Amino acid sequence: MAEKMLQFVRLQQQLPEKREAADRRKDFNEIYARFEPAHAAEQASRCSQCGVPFCQVHCPLQNNIPDWLKLTAENRLEEAYEVASATNTFPEICGRVCPQDRLCEGNCVIEKGFDSVTIGSVEKYIVDTAWEKGWVKPPKPKRELTASIAIIGAGPAGLAAAEQMRLKGYQVHVYDRYDRVGGLMIYGIPNFKLEKEVVLRRHEQFAAAGIKFHLGVEIGRDVTLNELRETHDAVFIATGVYKARDIELPGAELAGVHPAMDFLTASNRQGLGDTVPAFEDGTLNAAGKHVVVIGGGDTAMDCVRTAVRQGAASVACLYRRDKTNMPGSMREVHNAEEEGVRFVWLAAPEAFEGTDRVTGVRATRMHLGLPDATGRQQVDAIEGSSFIQRADMAIKALGFDPEDLPAMFREPALTVTRWGTIKVDHNTMMTALPGVFAGGDIVRGASLVVWGIRDGRDAAEQMHAYIMQKAAVAVAAE
Ligand code: FAD
Ligand code: SF4
Ligand code: SF4
Repeated sequence: MAEKMLQFVRLQQQLPEKREAADRRKDFNEIYARFEPAHAAEQASRCSQCGVPFCQVHCPLQNNIPDWLKLTAENRLEEAYEVASATNTFPEICGRVCPQDRLCEGNCVIEKGFDSVTIGSVEKYIVDTAWEKGWVKPPKPKRELTASIAIIGAGPAGLAAAEQMRLKGYQVHVYDRYDRVGGLMIYGIPNFKLEKEVVLRRHEQFAAAGIKFHLGVEIGRDVTLNELRETHDAVFIATGVYKARDIELPGAELAGVHPAMDFLTASNRQGLGDTVPAFEDGTLNAAGKHVVVIGGGDTAMDCVRTAVRQGAASVACLYRRDKTNMPGSMREVHNAEEEGVRFVWLAAPEAFEGTDRVTGVRATRMHLGLPDATGRQQVDAIEGSSFIQRADMAIKALGFDPEDLPAMFREPALTVTRWGTIKVDHNTMMTALPGVFAGGDIVRGASLVVWGIRDGRDAAEQMHAYIMQKAAVAVAAE
């Protein structure tokens, strides 16, 4: 082992510099600066090169983390990039948006007493450097095959499958109803977590590799699933989950009450330079408004922090449980608090107040009771504790469910689980329809970018095996 490693006993954990909250509030740029080269090498050298690296075990892609940390510590960045990109289609994106505290870093063994190695920031540093140096090249097939693949959805799952199938030489066609590639990486996750240029440059490379993108094409409306099955050798469904969970409260129809995705998509589009009438006329713009966001997950955190940056007069987040029971990442809650968001814990909404427009959210105070069978503490309303939180804009961020895909695709034989996610054979990732595979959020339910990448890469292996097996059977029958 290089002498350089094991420096955690000497060097303290240090993240890349975080911009001051007052500065962050003014724009949508990412909040962390990049590591300085010497700093990245130092931080990478804190790794103790574990024989059984728990960081790697808990990374959904089983990234070879100890190796790339060692190479970074030795300033062998091009090799570090090769290792980082061997298992991950978008390492620079994961370095930015993975909840590392729950995955790799949260399981780093030196975390106990010394603070974990800053794995995500080093991963981002390696691959951003690779882009700057021109080491990142379009995926290049070893040979061209005639067989073709249709991928429905250009989010992380669809794109990871596209890259892997193209590398194998397949003719890859990606269909997406949006006008841009990236799925929730482009229109969901805000710029201050993931600058859009980082996603768009990947699109350019994939197009240069010969992957054909059919944008603005909705499967089920413009083309049927059956047509895709007839023209391609396999199909991968990676359509994500977009049906907003709702709360049926009095006043939900008032002007000024919006679903989270409408608000975030408008903001992302505006940042990308699109004309967004609902933003320009103020409907989906928080500037000067008192904003209340309902929910305690990462989408709610993205909404509150977007509202702050748009210049809201005040931003409050109502959540029915307390801080420790929040589903959102603690890092994001902390960032939001720093940026001036007020959290109203243990508060459940009862109604939207107002005549034509929303003027407030009526909520009741809650208290945490005994745990249920799953171990989660129950919440009960405290009688007579209603209060009104002033609001000119109320955003519902309560999570997402799958759309009714069999109906959308007019394909009743496509079976779904009781949650509406697509049912697949977990060994082959194939749906009830032969040659049709599925992965990402539409199978898992709302999940993470890194799991989408994992599913896309696994599905590529399964589609390849399926096509090869079919070809072998055809040859044997001749
Ligand atoms: P998606 O990214 O949703 O992509 C699906 C694509 O399919 C879309 O482009 C859609 O237009 C297309 N599509 C759907 N139906 C059709 C059709 N009929 N025809 C053609 N195209 C279709 N994860 C993290 O890891 N870190 C984060 O910080 C994070 N923040 C998030 C913030 C928000 C606001 C949201 C909503 C999610 C966030 N996530 C985050 C979750 C993450 O973005 C998703 O888990 C991930 O994008 C799922 O990937 P996917 O490829 O399955 O689907
Ligand atoms: Fe950690 Fe995500 Fe990178 Fe895996 S992909 S090493 S979980 S940041
Ligand atoms: Fe290095 Fe931590 Fe992974 Fe061990 S668990 S190999 S110390 S990053």
